[in-house]
Amino acid sequence: MDTLFGDQYDAKDEKSNLFADIILPVPIPKMFTYKVPRNLSEEIGIGYRVIVQFGKKKVLTGIIGKVHQKPPSNYEAKPIMDLLDSYATVNPIQIRFWAWMAEYYCCHIGEVMNAALPSGLKLSSESKIQLNPTFDADTCSYPLDDREEILLQALGQKEEMSYEDCESVLGLKSIHVIIKSLVIKEAILVFEQVKEKYSPKVEARVRLANAYAADKKLLEALFNEISVKPKQEEILLKYLQEVPVYKKPELNQKGIEKKVLTDAGLSTSSLKTLVKNGILEEYKLIVSRFEREEGSDEEISLSSEQNEALIQIKQEFEEKNTVLLHGITGSGKTELYITLIKEVLAGGSQVLLLLPEIALTTHMVGRLRKVFGSKMGVYHSKYSDNERVEVWNGVLSGKLSFVVGVRSSIFLPFDSLGMIIVDEEHESSFKQFDPAPRFQARDAAIMLSWLHQAKTLLGSATPSFESYYNARMKKYGYVALDKRFGEAQLPAYYLADMLVDKKKNLLKLDFTRMLREKIQEALNNQEQVLIFQNRRGYAPYISCEDCGWIPECEHCDVSLTYHQFGEEMRCHYCGFKEKVPNTCPACGSNKLSAVGLGTERIEESLALLFPEARIARMDLDTTRSKYGYQRLLEDFGSGNVDILVGTQMITKGLDFDKVTVVGIMDADRILYFPDFRAGERAFQQITQVAGRAGRRDKKGSVIIQTRKPDQAIFEQIISGDYKQFYIQEMGDRQRFYYPPFVKIIKITTRHKDFKTAEKAAKYLHNLMGEIPVKKILLGPEKGLIGKIKNQYIFESIAKLDRSSNAQAQFKHELQHILEELQAQKEFRTVRFVVDVDPY
Ligand code: ADP
Ligand code: ZN
Ligand code: ZN
Repeated sequence: MDTLFGDQYDAKDEKSNLFADIILPVPIPKMFTYKVPRNLSEEIGIGYRVIVQFGKKKVLTGIIGKVHQKPPSNYEAKPIMDLLDSYATVNPIQIRFWAWMAEYYCCHIGEVMNAALPSGLKLSSESKIQLNPTFDADTCSYPLDDREEILLQALGQKEEMSYEDCESVLGLKSIHVIIKSLVIKEAILVFEQVKEKYSPKVEARVRLANAYAADKKLLEALFNEISVKPKQEEILLKYLQEVPVYKKPELNQKGIEKKVLTDAGLSTSSLKTLVKNGILEEYKLIVSRFEREEGSDEEISLSSEQNEALIQIKQEFEEKNTVLLHGITGSGKTELYITLIKEVLAGGSQVLLLLPEIALTTHMVGRLRKVFGSKMGVYHSKYSDNERVEVWNGVLSGKLSFVVGVRSSIFLPFDSLGMIIVDEEHESSFKQFDPAPRFQARDAAIMLSWLHQAKTLLGSATPSFESYYNARMKKYGYVALDKRFGEAQLPAYYLADMLVDKKKNLLKLDFTRMLREKIQEALNNQEQVLIFQNRRGYAPYISCEDCGWIPECEHCDVSLTYHQFGEEMRCHYCGFKEKVPNTCPACGSNKLSAVGLGTERIEESLALLFPEARIARMDLDTTRSKYGYQRLLEDFGSGNVDILVGTQMITKGLDFDKVTVVGIMDADRILYFPDFRAGERAFQQITQVAGRAGRRDKKGSVIIQTRKPDQAIFEQIISGDYKQFYIQEMGDRQRFYYPPFVKIIKITTRHKDFKTAEKAAKYLHNLMGEIPVKKILLGPEKGLIGKIKNQYIFESIAKLDRSSNAQAQFKHELQHILEELQAQKEFRTVRFVVDVDPY
C-alpha cells in the first residue's frame, strides 16, 4: 500500500482545508487534529477508522471524533494517512458515551477508546518495509553495497522488517535511497492483513422507499395500482412478509438481501423495475461472516407471580427510566428477562443483557440461545479478539440485535438500544479496576440507556445499597418478586458455632459437626454439596482464638487490616493505626493469631474427612483456561463431582437440581473485611450462595460456620429481611459519611522512590484542599499494600456531596492540578491514578 507514503503523505494540498479531530488509543488529554487529504474529504465522517502517524514512527488507528475547518493553532497538522473502512465503526452516541465516561471517571477519551474497541479494530504498528515484488537482483541497475545485500537477504527471509531494525543495519539515509530506487518499498503490512481478516462481507440489498414505509395509505394505494402487474406484486408481498413495516422509521432502513428475493424464484427484471420506479431502493450492507443456527423457542408461560411482576415493571417504566427488580434466588428472573427482551426486539430496538463475568458460562446463556438463536451475540472476556470483532461487526451490521455480555459489552456499537438489563446488579465485578477507564458498568449502563432514550432494568436478589437507596428515594422504580418458582422453597439455615465445637473437640479440620453431618447425609442420598470460602490472596486479619474478638477501627465501621510489617493494625479509610496487642482486650487470652483458610486447604481436609467423595475445587487457579470454568460446571452438572469447593465463583447463577447442602466455612471472614461495604457484601454473598441450595422439590440446607452466631446480620439473612438489614447499615453509612450518602474519589500516587511519592502525594493533597467545593479529604495515607512492583503507594480520599455540580467542579479542577503536577520536573515520573466511586 504505497499510497500511504506516496504523494498524499507529503503533499501540501492548499485547496483542501478540512481537518479532523482524531481519538487515539493513548492516554493523552485531547483529540489530535489532522489534515484531511482532499481525496478522502468526501468519504470520511465521524466514527470512521483512520490511520495516522503519531510521534515520529508510531502509526495508530484512530477514530474520527469531529470534522471541521479550523487548523490547530500551536502545531502543524499532519495529514491522515489512510481511511480503513467505507463506513463508521463507531456511532455518534458512542462518541458521546466515551466523552461522558472520560469526564465522569477522570480519564482520557483515548483510554476509553482503548477499552472500547477490540484490539483487532485498532492495531497499531511501526512503519515496516518489505522487498518490492518486482525487484530482481540480477537485472537491478542500482549498485548494491554490502550492507544493502545483508538487508535484502534479511528481508527475503522475513518478508517484512521494522523500520528500526532496518535502520540499525543501514542507517536512515540509505533506507531512503533504496526506497527511492524501488528495491524495497514501505508498507504497513499489519493493516493490510487486518483489513483482509476482519473485513466483513458486503451484501446487496433492497428496501422499501421511505415514503411507502412511512405512510400506510400510500402503501395501500401502491398495491391497488400494482395488482395489474402480478410479478411486481409478488415481490412486494414477499418483501413485506420478510420485513414488516415497523413503527420506528429508522428500522425500515434495514431492508432485505436481494438474494432472498431472487432465490425465491421471483423475477429479476420486475425487481429492477420496482427499483427503477423508486418503490424499492438498492443499498449495500456490511455484514459479519458469522452465522449461527437459529433458535428453537420452547414456549414457557410465566407463573402468576412472574406475570404480576412483569406488569409492574412495565408500569414503572412508564414513569421511570430505571427499575430495580428485587427477586429472590430461584424466583425465575431469567424468564422475566426473556419476555421483556422479546417484546423490545419485536418493537425493533436492540437489547443488552449485562452479566457478571462468570455467569456467562452457565446454563442461562444456553437458555437464551435457544430462545434468541442467531440474533443473539455473546461477548465474553475470555473470547479471542477475532470473536470480539465478530460480535462488534454483528451489532454494527444489525445482524445481532441482542447481546449478552460482560461489562465491556457496553461499548458495542448499538445504535437503537431499547433496554439494558443488568442481572446481579450488586456484583462488584461490574467495576473495572485497572486500567482506566475505571468504570462501573451498571452505572455506565444507566447513562448509556439515557443517551439512547432506553430503559434500564436492574435485577438482583440482594440489591446494592446504591440501587436500593435510589429505589427508596423514588428515583428508580421498584418491583419485588419474593416467591421461588414452582414448588421450590427457600433453604433452611443452620448457624454452626465453631468455638463451641472447638471446646467440645468436635471441630475437625475446621469443619463443625453440623456441617460434617449434613455433608454425609447428602452424600448418602447421592445429592451434591457446595462449600464456600472466599479466600483470595493472603491478607490475614487478627482474631482471638478464644472469644472471636476482631479488632475494629475506633473511627470507622470497618475492621483493621493486619500489616505484618511493623506489627500494626491499620484503618484503610481514616488512617487510624494501632500496634497489635499482646493479649485480647476482650477476654485477656494471649491466643491472638492471624487467621487464614483457603480453598486448597479445605479441599484437602474434605478428602480426609470424606475419603469416598469426589471433590473438585473452583477458584481463579482452576479456571484460568478458556473453558476451565465450563468444564468444571459440566462435571458438576453431570454428577461426576459430589462436593465442589469454591470462592465467590460458585455463588453466581448456578442452577443445579441436586445441590441440597451449602456450607459457608467462615462467615466471620466475610463480615470483618476492612471495607465499609463488608456488611453489605456478606449479606449478598451468603444469600447468593445459599440460594444455590434446594432449587427444585427437595428443600436445601445452608450451614453457616461462625464464631459469633448471635450477630444481627445472620438473623436478617435467615429471615430474608433485607430491608431491616439495609436500614441498620445505612445508619452507619450516614454517620461516617460513606456512599450512597457521599461520593468517593480515590487518588493514588505511585513512585519508585518513597520520598518522591510521599512528597507528590502531600503536594497533591494540599492542592486538592484548595478546591472550593464542600468535601472531606482523608490521607494521604500509605496504601493498604504500601509497595507494589517496587512502586510506593499513597492514597487520598475525597468525599463529596452527591450533587453532580460539586463533583464535576472537583473533577475538573483535579484534572488541572494533575496536569500541573505532572508538568513539574520532579513529579514527571510520578503516576497519579484517579478512581471515581472506588470499590
Ligand atoms: P433466578 O435467576 O431468579 O435465581 P432462575 O431464572 O434461574 O432464577 O429460575 C429458577 C429455576 O426456575 C430455573 O431452573 C428456571 O428454569 C425455572 N423457572 C423459572 N420460571 C419458570 C417458568 N415460568 N416456567 C418454567 N420454569 C421456570
Ligand atoms: Zn478474646
Ligand atoms: Zn478508620
